[in-house]
Amino acid sequence: MFATIDDMPGDLRGKRVLVRADLNVPMQDGVVSDATRLQACVPTVAALADRGAVVLILSHFGRPKGVEKALSLRPIAWALGEVLGREMAFVADCAGPDAEAAVVELHPGQIAVLENTRFHPGEEANDPALAAAIARLGDYFVNDAFSAAHRAHASTEGLAHLLPAFAGRAMEAELKALEAALGKPERPVVAVVGGAKVSTKLDVLLHLVGKVDHLIIGGGMANTFLAANGVDVGKSLCEHALADTAREILTRAAAAGCTVHLPYDVVVAREFKAHAAYEVVNIHEVPADAMILDLGPLAVEMLSDVLKTCATLVWNGPLGAFELEPFDAATVALARTAAALTEGGTLVSVAGGGDTVAALNHAGVADKFTFVSTAGGAFLEWMEGKTLPGVEALQQEHRP
Ligand code: ADP
Ligand code: MG
Repeated sequence: MFATIDDMPGDLRGKRVLVRADLNVPMQDGVVSDATRLQACVPTVAALADRGAVVLILSHFGRPKGVEKALSLRPIAWALGEVLGREMAFVADCAGPDAEAAVVELHPGQIAVLENTRFHPGEEANDPALAAAIARLGDYFVNDAFSAAHRAHASTEGLAHLLPAFAGRAMEAELKALEAALGKPERPVVAVVGGAKVSTKLDVLLHLVGKVDHLIIGGGMANTFLAANGVDVGKSLCEHALADTAREILTRAAAAGCTVHLPYDVVVAREFKAHAAYEVVNIHEVPADAMILDLGPLAVEMLSDVLKTCATLVWNGPLGAFELEPFDAATVALARTAAALTEGGTLVSVAGGGDTVAALNHAGVADKFTFVSTAGGAFLEWMEGKTLPGVEALQQEHRP
């Protein structure tokens, strides 16, 4: 277990708390174009400031090589101030004598963003000297950036060993949701894995077959499994070189008692574009000149029935080329079934992945899932069963 900000002293006046957030937001023409990540850190930052702490926010931004003015966190600090609805200060370095001099000037309850941690090469190298220099600025460390936790960097991992370390609210919510989905889930558990290619999700599939009761394989990667089973997939996206690997995954699933669900019928077209002429065919009737772009209606009905028998769902990867209508149909339909079952209280549903989040938003159900992770790489590594160094460092429960 990990300690949370509830385990910190209630009165934090006279204390400085270093909060690792993820302010790595998309920018367009110098303006934040998606403030989701800024909103995510509000509960933690506001709670600590309300308890009288000086809150010092750490984050990386982009991939600078040394100090790059264009990748300063300064404009993002002001944007965060607006999202928080509070006064915001900015400290032009995250370590060193100037930073030390600046933070002592801040008064209880004041919030400051410190400059891009990656301006120091020691950040990505997880240099103990940099971690120690950052640690001198604060009394406590709070990590609220699950999305950066798969990287053992000075501000995500190193710092957690030097100060009493706690999970922030967003980190806490993410860890609890992931624990409920694959740690100690209610059974039966069903995993949906889709997306373009098997090669990007091999470790995910290998981990899941040993963990879940049902594995639904959709998207382009299903073609590789079908082809490995001797099905002619025509011109579909397919990694024929991975046929042995696909068979190995199916063998391991069978040994582990995991039922794998491959498509029964599919939607095929001759062109990879929206509103291309299409037909629904049985997987054994894919025309030689056609591509599979979505699962068929019978497959969706059968998969919906699987979801109805399950207590927990974890989902990564769309079932078809969902960006192109009408090849979004299977993804949208199954997502809505999952949302309805979640609302009905019979299913805990957790999803993640860049395109998966976009697909759930497109289906209008992202807010109806139990939890949707926007963490990207960290979410996938967790699906692979990996230990995330930033999370591992929090498990040590340094308590003041
Ligand atoms: P995520 O970002 O959620 O991890 P992926 O990046 O693995 O998901 O996969 C998403 C991509 O897979 C989408 O761009 C989608 O168009 C593509 N895709 C899904 N099914 C097919 C298919 N049958 N043929 C080609 N591309 C597909
Ligand atoms: Mg993707």
